[in-house]
Amino acid sequence: MEDKIIVENELGDWRRTHYSFQISDSVINNVVTVIGWISSKRDHGNVLFVQLRDRFGDIQILVKRKELSENIFDSLKSLKEHSSIAIKGKVVEQKNSSNEFEVIPEDIRILSVSNKPAPFLTQSISSIGIDTRLDLRAIDLRRNHLQNVFKIRNTILNSIREYLNDNYFVEVNTPKMIATATEGGAALFPIFYYDREAFLAQSPQLYKEQLTMAFENVFEIAPIFRAEPSRTNRHLSEAMSVDVEKAYVDYTDMMDYLDNLIRYIIQSVNDKNQIELDSLGTELPNVSKPFSRITYSTLVENLQKSHKYIRWGDDISPKLLKDLFGDEFYFITDWPSSTKPFYVKSKKMDPIAEPNNGDDPRMLSESFDLMYGSLELSSGSTRINNKGDLMDNMKKKGLSHKAFDYHLRVFDYGVPPHAGFGLGLERLLMAILKLDNIRDATFYPRDIDRLTP
Ligand code: ATP
Ligand code: MG
Repeated sequence: MEDKIIVENELGDWRRTHYSFQISDSVINNVVTVIGWISSKRDHGNVLFVQLRDRFGDIQILVKRKELSENIFDSLKSLKEHSSIAIKGKVVEQKNSSNEFEVIPEDIRILSVSNKPAPFLTQSISSIGIDTRLDLRAIDLRRNHLQNVFKIRNTILNSIREYLNDNYFVEVNTPKMIATATEGGAALFPIFYYDREAFLAQSPQLYKEQLTMAFENVFEIAPIFRAEPSRTNRHLSEAMSVDVEKAYVDYTDMMDYLDNLIRYIIQSVNDKNQIELDSLGTELPNVSKPFSRITYSTLVENLQKSHKYIRWGDDISPKLLKDLFGDEFYFITDWPSSTKPFYVKSKKMDPIAEPNNGDDPRMLSESFDLMYGSLELSSGSTRINNKGDLMDNMKKKGLSHKAFDYHLRVFDYGVPPHAGFGLGLERLLMAILKLDNIRDATFYPRDIDRLTP
């Protein structure tokens, strides 16, 4: 038999007077209006305990049959988790439960009824398959676990803006529909742009470099789009990148900035999110010392000594780093130019590396990757600011000058020396909270298999 429920389905003139955190000593015996959804319910026959959840947390509602009309009591009794309700009632002290206060309803308005039990509980950690959760992501995001994750994400974003603003950076936005690839080779998503083909931007690289001419120090927090054909726990097709670019510095200065930025972020989370960290049972990474720096060539030597198969010039796969580094932040610096994009400034020949057969010099670049264990968080470098060098490098990488004319022409006017980095926001959240899957560091993940919801 269908439950009969009175549904107003309308707020009417009802408005919240207090959030859950505002239910305190100062409002005891006051009549308040609280609004939210039912996160759990205990039914003791003629007495109901309802947990009403709002943006900040739960409020306990104590409902007694004899104190309400039969109608309202029965309606509430039959409501399922996730239904939205508004309650006008009196605040009383509650010494005997984990809640310090309760609201005793005088009037109730049912705003929206959940027809189905959700396939997972708001309290459950994660035994449920990720696809089941992602299919109903809006409900999944109500779970305590993800609520904690995304509260911390919010602190991270705010602290990034604070740090960069304090260091005289300007927040910018660059186009996400672009004409050419910036990283060359990396897979792009083509789109229709009126009568032409265009692409979703895989990075704001060239634009942020250009903007150092006008603003010196710029940053952007925005999506990057990468057609990643593989299924991994660390790649999304659409990810958030914190891009930073600064004039009159080189890559060593940017490593200092990045090191200090991460330290600042972790301090902020430590200061503002103890409740969420306790609830997640997570300890923040130790960042008491500046991050260590190891050159690519030394690292390759070390890997070879520990009998890992790698040749100088190869990219370093996460698998190889697993045994060498624990849960710590560190920089891998001075990568071979051949592993880096065309805009990265070259350094000098590597004295350690064996000479290659013939005349192919082993060029190093002024570059770094910030790592956490085996997870890459950021790549940065000194950029080429000389037009001739940039054109030479493009040629070496097989990129057409014509396609980049819009960019190259800026260099006729004296682009300042500059350096910068791109930091993956979801990767950073994974590192800080030790998340296994990057999908839980974003709201609606996009990957090779998923384009909805
Ligand atoms: P990886 O080697 O891990 O695929 P990448 O070297 O291709 O990364 P970069 O072009 O250096 O990535 O981008 C800068 C940062 O942006 C990366 O260090 C990472 O934190 C983040 N990032 C890049 N691609 C992705 C992606 N597909 N999903 C999530 N984050 C990404
Ligand atoms: Mg990289």
